[in-house]
Amino acid sequence: MNRNHETSFKDPVCGMEVSRTTAVDEFTHLGKAYYFCAGICREAFEAEPEKYIHRHRQHGIKPK
Ligand SMILES: [Zn+2]
Repeated sequence: MNRNHETSFKDPVCGMEVSRTTAVDEFTHLGKAYYFCAGICREAFEAEPEKYIHRHRQHGIKPK
């Protein structure tokens, strides 16, 4: 069941699903916007963005 008409994003720090309205905080890194469930998640991401981005790297896909 998916009644959510909003695009959802995954909080890269804790993995929680957030949308533009439920997200408490956002941060733009390398031109991409990330949404967070809480300020502490945004702060953690801001401190070490690579650490969280690499966790979501897709395996087997090489960017060209
Ligand atoms: Zn979070």
